[in-house]
Amino acid sequence: MYLGKCLCGEVQIKINGEISDIIHCHCSLCRKNSGTAFATNGFINSLDLEIVSGKNSLSSFSFKPGKHRHFCTNCGSPVYSSNEQDPTRYRLRLGILDSDIEERPISHNFVSSKANWEELDAKLPRYDSFEPSRK
Ligand SMILES: [Zn+2]
Ligand SMILES: [Zn+2]
Repeated sequence: MYLGKCLCGEVQIKINGEISDIIHCHCSLCRKNSGTAFATNGFINSLDLEIVSGKNSLSSFSFKPGKHRHFCTNCGSPVYSSNEQDPTRYRLRLGILDSDIEERPISHNFVSSKANWEELDAKLPRYDSFEPSRK
């Protein structure tokens, strides 16, 4: 069980399960959405996400049809994204977590889109798109 909250603390979440396929995504959408060099995201079972408080402060933005980025309307923190094509899982923004986690990132993705000032120094595999194991 993992706990997390947005920057202002209004949106509090609990993850009642594991996080899988954690990657650092360097695509331009994740860079703009996070305001940083890359976003670190992992899959959770959608039934495992519990919005403990602040449900009314969650809003979503769709850059692509059917894909929704959920964030806190008060502080702007990205929380998770959902895809209408696959309602069984969500993509969690790992920076939202306060708990230490067992799982570890497996790769850097979309490195062909990375910021030219970002030096990749972690010893992780690098892919121009999704990691090959992504289902
Ligand atoms: Zn907030
Ligand atoms: Zn991305």
